[in-house]
Amino acid sequence: MKVNKDFIRDMLVYLIFISTVIAIFNFLILPIFGGKKIKETDYSFFLSQVDEGNVTKVNIKENEILFEAENKDGSTSRYSTGKIDDPELVSRLYEKGNIEFTASFESNNIVLEFIVSWVLPIIFFALLWNVFMKGMGKRMGGGNAMSFGKSNAKIYVKAQTGKTFKDVAGQDEAKDALVEIVDFLHNPDKYAEIGANLPKGALLVGPPGTGKTLLAQAVAGEADVPFFSISGSEFVEMFVGMGAAKVRDLFKQANEKAPCIVFIDEIDTIGKKRDGNISGNDEREQTLNQLLTEMDGFDGKKGVVILAATNRPESLDPALLRPGRFDRRIPAELPDLAGREAILKVHARKIKTEQNIDFNAIARATAGASGAELANIINESALRAVRNNRQTVSQSDLEESVEVVIAGYQRKNAVISQKEKTIIAYHEIGHALVAAKQKNSAPVHKITIIPRTSGALGYTMQVDEEEKFLMTKEEALARITTLTGGRSAEELIFNSCTSGASNDIEKATKIARAMVTRYGMSSSFDMVALETVTNQYLGGDSSLACSPETAAKIDAEVNGIVKKCHERALRILSENIDKLHELSHFLIEKETITGEEFMSILNRKVISIA
Ligand code: ADP
Ligand code: MG
Ligand code: ZN
Repeated sequence: MKVNKDFIRDMLVYLIFISTVIAIFNFLILPIFGGKKIKETDYSFFLSQVDEGNVTKVNIKENEILFEAENKDGSTSRYSTGKIDDPELVSRLYEKGNIEFTASFESNNIVLEFIVSWVLPIIFFALLWNVFMKGMGKRMGGGNAMSFGKSNAKIYVKAQTGKTFKDVAGQDEAKDALVEIVDFLHNPDKYAEIGANLPKGALLVGPPGTGKTLLAQAVAGEADVPFFSISGSEFVEMFVGMGAAKVRDLFKQANEKAPCIVFIDEIDTIGKKRDGNISGNDEREQTLNQLLTEMDGFDGKKGVVILAATNRPESLDPALLRPGRFDRRIPAELPDLAGREAILKVHARKIKTEQNIDFNAIARATAGASGAELANIINESALRAVRNNRQTVSQSDLEESVEVVIAGYQRKNAVISQKEKTIIAYHEIGHALVAAKQKNSAPVHKITIIPRTSGALGYTMQVDEEEKFLMTKEEALARITTLTGGRSAEELIFNSCTSGASNDIEKATKIARAMVTRYGMSSSFDMVALETVTNQYLGGDSSLACSPETAAKIDAEVNGIVKKCHERALRILSENIDKLHELSHFLIEKETITGEEFMSILNRKVISIA
């Protein structure tokens, strides 16, 4: 058997602890309960008691004499006295006749005394220790509480994650892939018979909040096997080598508990590409190396499945991704329309809603939202219902929560001057009007000029009738035109411009740039990739992959596109300037108008011109 240093240390600590406790028990606690007190007296008192005939029992020990003497009232007391070399003592005691005396403890009591003072306490404290450790273990999420600095992988069992695939809505592809793993953990024989090796590791990738952690927990719940969960950052320690030790320990524990699942969340913290950089992070590299070694080291048939999650798969070391390690990639993408509706419904089960809530409408208004955001929308709606002293959540609660999650809470007490309010209203109606007058634009759903905590002073919500996966060139141009509509209205009406359009400008530029550099939608470049996306799941940053001359041309091209769209927006607005005035005044008065109100004003004949 391999003797483990940690084990020896734990045992030592344990022994010391037990001995101390027993010593305390024997010297302090036992005497309290141990029957009568023993009084210390001098030898002459002993002799006088013997002479008076009060002594009934004498126990002559190696260096003391214990004796029991009768008091005047008939009760007995125990005494001890020092032993003096007194050869006549025995004969003196014998003469008295009625004294029981021995030269040591009665032999039948030795065993009993040993059991009482040593064996029982040991058993008692061993039991106590066990209970204590278990409680500790539970509180710390498993493992051995004595093992400081060792793996703090938490062992979850079914009851603790409490999640199953039912809690995960949408994500059908991911679930399919994981169902196979669950099946493998249930019947490994089925796979062994054919000779199939299941992947040792699967990597869950996707943007934040798409349910990667949730999926892993659901797998544990479904598989009903021990579930070790650790976050990548927990491996990174102050001391070099600790991370590697933790990895070793984690896999040791996992091997003992097989079949089981090991889940490493946010694996990119330790799994980053190793670069040739000497000054690189030594600790991280060692940890990664240990992880690679461990993944090769264990037997795939034994039933240890390693799941990991990350939203930066491109930054992972290629060695981690090769076959035999995390060779299976399970994407957890942002949910589509059906997925969003399903997620909303899953979370709505936990709250009380009114009958016939239209979740589809909410799902349509939340294109691009992640599962976590949708869960948040449901929770916000419940909070809003409570705030308004209602027992159930209504459709309007949900609609308002969508806006809260997108743009923040309403800033009801923000003071905005009438002049600024007018500008904001014209700006928003500018967007809406341009959107409505174009063919390839999503319908306007809502316009508001109530400021939000996100800093937005107003916004125009557009909701597509159906989910779109492609964007045509016309749609892209229509989007840019709509974005420039706000500024165009300011220019047209107030003959000046404000800083309020900065967000619009940013978005418009991003679309125009992507058209030129990534979608091949410009006139001067062909299907050439001029930019590559570096961070697919985290905002989609991209880096230029072209010469500086080309970069200058790209800038000119982008500018050209936005300029054309801006001119178009100006034209649309000046053609409909009556409606712009009418709608803006309506908005200033109402602060929030719906898509229907907007369309009915837009479609009715002009009655008055403000
Ligand atoms: P990440 O992908 O960042 O690990 P999480 O798994 O932590 O995301 O998800 C955060 C929360 O979002 C979950 O606890 C859950 O409430 C909600 N959520 C995300 N995706 C889904 C989904 N597909 N179905 C139901 N809830 C989801
Ligand atoms: Mg996560
Ligand atoms: Zn705007």
